[in-house]
Amino acid sequence: MRFDVVSLFPDWVASVADWGVTGRARERGLMSVHCWDPRDFTRDRHRTVDDRPYGGGPGMVMKVDPLRQAIQAARVDDETPARVIYMSPQGRRLDQAGVHHLAALPRVILLAGRYEGIDERLIQLEVDEEWSIGDYVLSGGELAAMVVIDACARLLPGALGDALSATQDSFSQGLLDCPHYTRPEVVDGLGVPEVLRCGDHGRIERWRRKQALGRTWERRPDLLAQQELSEADCRLLEE
Ligand code: SAM
Repeated sequence: MRFDVVSLFPDWVASVADWGVTGRARERGLMSVHCWDPRDFTRDRHRTVDDRPYGGGPGMVMKVDPLRQAIQAARVDDETPARVIYMSPQGRRLDQAGVHHLAALPRVILLAGRYEGIDERLIQLEVDEEWSIGDYVLSGGELAAMVVIDACARLLPGALGDALSATQDSFSQGLLDCPHYTRPEVVDGLGVPEVLRCGDHGRIERWRRKQALGRTWERRPDLLAQQELSEADCRLLEE
């Protein structure tokens, strides 16, 4: 998968592919991140990318031209067709289903806004989808773009050390994940549930499923309401 990111802070965004799972995915050739700085597409001495808003009011607005040219430069850099995604608090709120949708695309151009946002006409002319990473406002779209890159990268086949990890993560089966433990066996008097040390894989699986169901019921009943539970799951919940 190829990510192009249009951002005023290209080095920061590019660093997302230097570490951990995303770093490994890049090293394995599963994904790449290419950054485009709109300032490189300005023609004035100050490399101006913003201007005052029509109608007055606080803050500045990102201008159409430098962004449009940066998007165009990204487009023609590779023949793979790309969808242009504007990271915006006004977009569809990202969830795991949204991440699956994005990770299935061969290529995305992520647009990171700054200031009060970007000129509405750029959105009308160039943007295919708007995505938000939550109901709060960031100073810029860079972190949001990095969130998308990270969440997509871990779904790419071969990115994780163990492919099963992604299928057991929260949301992948509509539930929250079960609790996890590692050595030592006792921490400040707190032990590890006996079942995880018994070696009976059937029991362990049932326990994990029950924990996942219980946690989801306690913490995110909205997720459970969207599930059609099997008879076995219902029995586990009643135990
Ligand atoms: N005035 C805009 C509004 O209220 O909708 C917010 C502008 S915000 C300060 C600057 C940029 O940060 C936006 O253009 C967008 O790219 C990014 N951003 C802020 N919050 C975001 C969120 N929750 N999800 C994705 N991007 C966000």
